[in-house]
Amino acid sequence: MARPKVAFFDLSSCEGCQLQVTNIGAVLFELLGVIELVEFREVLSERSAARYHLAFVEGSVSNSEAERRLKEIRARSDALIAYGSCATNGGVNGMKNCNSLVAAQAEVYAEQGAWFPTTSTRALHQLVTVDYMIPGCPIHPDEFIKVVKAALAGLPSPVPDYAVCVECKLNENVCLYDKGITCLGPITRAGCHAWCINNGNTCYGCRGLVSNPNRSGAAAVLHHYGLDAEQIVKRMTMYNAAMEPDDA
Ligand code: SF4
Ligand code: SF4
Repeated sequence: MARPKVAFFDLSSCEGCQLQVTNIGAVLFELLGVIELVEFREVLSERSAARYHLAFVEGSVSNSEAERRLKEIRARSDALIAYGSCATNGGVNGMKNCNSLVAAQAEVYAEQGAWFPTTSTRALHQLVTVDYMIPGCPIHPDEFIKVVKAALAGLPSPVPDYAVCVECKLNENVCLYDKGITCLGPITRAGCHAWCINNGNTCYGCRGLVSNPNRSGAAAVLHHYGLDAEQIVKRMTMYNAAMEPDDA
């Protein structure tokens, strides 16, 4: 029986999630035994398929060429998997949406800004149907493997819709707020096992917000713990500026 054809693509991103896939170790070799890897720019120079069973797309859409590529990949794929914060919620690229496009071009390319046409940042599901999402900056290897298994079996694999705090408390971490440190865990989607807090960092909201997040309550807590209005806006939009209010 033919192995499923699997391809990896990248749009606007740092490519860290592709690197994360290449770094998953022995499981990657097991995976390569059951799939046919047909395109993956970071590790393969060949491109050998007209159609894909699974297409993994990293990165957000930030110009019309990326939108054209994404729609072409979608048309050639049985299932499309958005992986990484940029693909699932716009990621840090979404901060561009807080400024005018002209200001963004000038900030990055100075007087050559007009040479690089750009659009507002969009997550993949804002333009095409996405079958699976693996949020995170970068993706967590366990979640990648879980989604790959589900996708190969044709089963659903929804992203958890409860807060990172749930996993954080299950890990018996001392809450950062008890140490006077702010954290976006209360409104951020779980699934990373509270990765950053476990390792002495704070949650920046990279997995996107839970459905119907209590933004005003979270803002009030951040203010109570010393952040001013500008800092609150920056914290809340660091990863989620590209999302619509009800698009968490
Ligand atoms: S440290 Fe952050 S994620 Fe953990 S319980 Fe506190 S607010 Fe929630
Ligand atoms: S703890 Fe927060 S910032 Fe860290 S990986 Fe999880 S969702 Fe992302």
